[in-house]
Amino acid sequence: MNAFPSSSALTFADLTTIGVGGPISRFVEPASRVGIIEAVEDADRAGLPLCVIGGGSNMLAADDAFEGVVVRDGCRAITVPDEAAPVENGEHIVHVNAEAGCNWDDFVAFAVSLGLTGVEGLSGIPGMVGASVVQNIGAYGQEVAASVESVEVWDREAKRVQYLGAVDLRFAYRSSALKTSMYAAPGVPGPRFFPTPRYVVLSVTFRLIHRSYGVVSNGQLAKALGVGVGDKLDTAAIREAVLAVRAAKGMLEDAGRYANPAMQGTKREENIRAALASQQAATGGEGPDWDRHSCGSFFMNPILSVRAADALPADAPRFPATTADGSPAVKTSAAWLIDHAGFHKGYAVATGAPAALSSRHTLALTNRGGAKASDIAALSTAVRDGVQSVYGVRLIPEPVVIGMNLVAD
Ligand SMILES: Cc1cc2nc3c(=O)[nH]c(=O)nc-3n(C[C@H](O)[C@H](O)[C@H](O)COP(=O)(O)OP(=O)(O)OC[C@H]3O[C@@H](n4cnc5c(N)ncnc54)[C@H](O)[C@@H]3O)c2cc1C
Repeated sequence: MNAFPSSSALTFADLTTIGVGGPISRFVEPASRVGIIEAVEDADRAGLPLCVIGGGSNMLAADDAFEGVVVRDGCRAITVPDEAAPVENGEHIVHVNAEAGCNWDDFVAFAVSLGLTGVEGLSGIPGMVGASVVQNIGAYGQEVAASVESVEVWDREAKRVQYLGAVDLRFAYRSSALKTSMYAAPGVPGPRFFPTPRYVVLSVTFRLIHRSYGVVSNGQLAKALGVGVGDKLDTAAIREAVLAVRAAKGMLEDAGRYANPAMQGTKREENIRAALASQQAATGGEGPDWDRHSCGSFFMNPILSVRAADALPADAPRFPATTADGSPAVKTSAAWLIDHAGFHKGYAVATGAPAALSSRHTLALTNRGGAKASDIAALSTAVRDGVQSVYGVRLIPEPVVIGMNLVAD
């Protein structure tokens, strides 16, 4: 096969927010829908490992070379197909289609600028539209699932384009049918499709509401805004508050990453400028903010059987949940377990180690400059094993881990 003739000089460190990971042997960035499908098909036909990458914000790749094909979607258009907003339950509904390669926060900024509500709570989450539905991103009382009408995918098994609706997508906490198609069990790669799902997202059609206000549905956000949970507020004000709360926790990507030629064109220039300006105002300088060199929350909040949750200390957080088979379960907080097991903000396996917990968020594993994937892996293992020995709970990484096993011993 000759579809990927040249070897690439790129590494996963160039393409991921945590800035680690080894060389990529072949990289392509088609700028058409057909080009994406062909690139995926060519890799699949040749039996090469395939990694469709978005913003690389939920991905941790090993230091070894990736002997496969990395495809980044260069289609980034946002369109509003509705000529008039139909009224449903007294609300004006507007459908907005975004191509998978569109930067997620560009999409949120666009929706808010049109006076649409539904995704403002997800402001500042790094990455692209395609992966937003794989992971069912969520924050501050919103999940993308609530605003998705349908997802256009290339089905790598059936070899055709399909449109998946809410029922097919089986959205759950940080999960969807897209995500489960690449895993054999939580955190355990499946035999056929890992590290990219069977379904490659081509575009997402969102169902947003045309009104000037959103509803504040999260306590932390309400506090930042000085309002109560359930209060109605200007959507743009909610977006600004979310960005401010995220900045204070280091839970934004380092906007400086877009200076890397490898990231060129992946985010709208005006939004890069705005993100850089607020980052510099927050940190007081132009250098990297190492707390932002992460994959976000590194471990998923564990969902435990009622019996396992009973064994936790009385003050451990507990939220009602259900297991994959629908039985009642309890969700607890990975951050609480980590902190109470003795791993506090800034923890590193050794003094001066280049990987450490964020100084502002216990759940973020960060590259403090010059870390390798093996340093992140050593930190992840120390935290995972520490929590297991204190609480008997096995933490599962949330990012897609390529070329390393951070679940088993
Ligand atoms: C600082 C920070 C804060 C974060 N905060 C949050 C948060 O609040 N809530 C939250 O839910 N997440 C959060 N995340 C995690 C991450 O941003 C999201 O999971 C995001 O959706 C990942 O998007 P991406 O484009 O970077 O995906 P990538 O990391 O590039 O890819 C992740 C997975 O999706 C697959 N994928 C990518 N594009 C496609 C496509 N087009 N079709 C099919 N599969 C695809 C990849 O193959 C891979 O398996 C945070 C991350 C960081 C770094």
